[in-house]
Amino acid sequence: MVTVRQLIKEAEKKLDEQQKDCNVPKVLFYHLSNKEPHQLYLMMDEEVDEELYQQFQEGMKRYMDGEPIQYIKGKETFFSRDFIVNENVLIPRYETEELVENILYHIDDYFEDKEIIDLCDVGTGSGAIAVTLALEEEKLNVTATDISEEALEVARQNAKELGADVTFCRGDMLEPLIERNIKVDIFVSNPPYIPRQQEIEDVVKDNEPHVALFGGDDGLYFYRKIFERVKLVLKDKALLAFEMGFDQKEIMEEALAFYFPDCPYQILKDMNGKDRMLFIYYHLKEH
Ligand code: GLN
Repeated sequence: MVTVRQLIKEAEKKLDEQQKDCNVPKVLFYHLSNKEPHQLYLMMDEEVDEELYQQFQEGMKRYMDGEPIQYIKGKETFFSRDFIVNENVLIPRYETEELVENILYHIDDYFEDKEIIDLCDVGTGSGAIAVTLALEEEKLNVTATDISEEALEVARQNAKELGADVTFCRGDMLEPLIERNIKVDIFVSNPPYIPRQQEIEDVVKDNEPHVALFGGDDGLYFYRKIFERVKLVLKDKALLAFEMGFDQKEIMEEALAFYFPDCPYQILKDMNGKDRMLFIYYHLKEH
């Protein structure tokens, strides 16, 4: 039998030898033992029971073999809530929390007087954006779409577990909205935006769904697809909110000049100072 301290130290040593993230053993241990970080220090000398030991070693093996810790845990925190994640959905990122936060500010600025605000999230994946918005702003009526039925299963489960009222429809980009004649006040999407040839970390490339990552040769394939027809699903006045790649400002501006020549827009930076969010003000005045 080993103690908690021995278990964690041994795993940290292995990771250190392979220059991998040494925080993982603790993160995995908190998860498996259902403990908070501050509780760990009180139990360092306790013995680890057999079942936990096995689960821990299995989890560490998966991590050593290159799987992201979030898939091993089966969840990731987004906006302080736990979302179920698996290999069918992109792991929610911090940058996307900033997108959600900025959408909430924009709701206060533009739609405060409305009783009900219709919003859609296209390519919802785990449902992190749609579910969070539905929970944070009760005036929102949220519809979320994805082409992947497997992703929608995860999103539906997240909505159910977290108690969010979101309507999910399967289909390619705008299709399900157009078919149902849905028109929204707020159009949101974090489409796949990594250019096909861009080098990305192995842990991302080898594990996360490529359908959620890659956006054609320059990364803008899905934005153009959306821009072409999005007016069909917008109300007379609408806000469009997108996540985008940090190096896409120039080509995005070219696309906007083509598809939205008269619309004000803003590209906002994330907390790392990188261009990350696009807001288009369709028949709305930019505040
Ligand atoms: N932000 C993700 C990454 O860099 C990509 C997400 C996306 O393409 N929408 O891994």
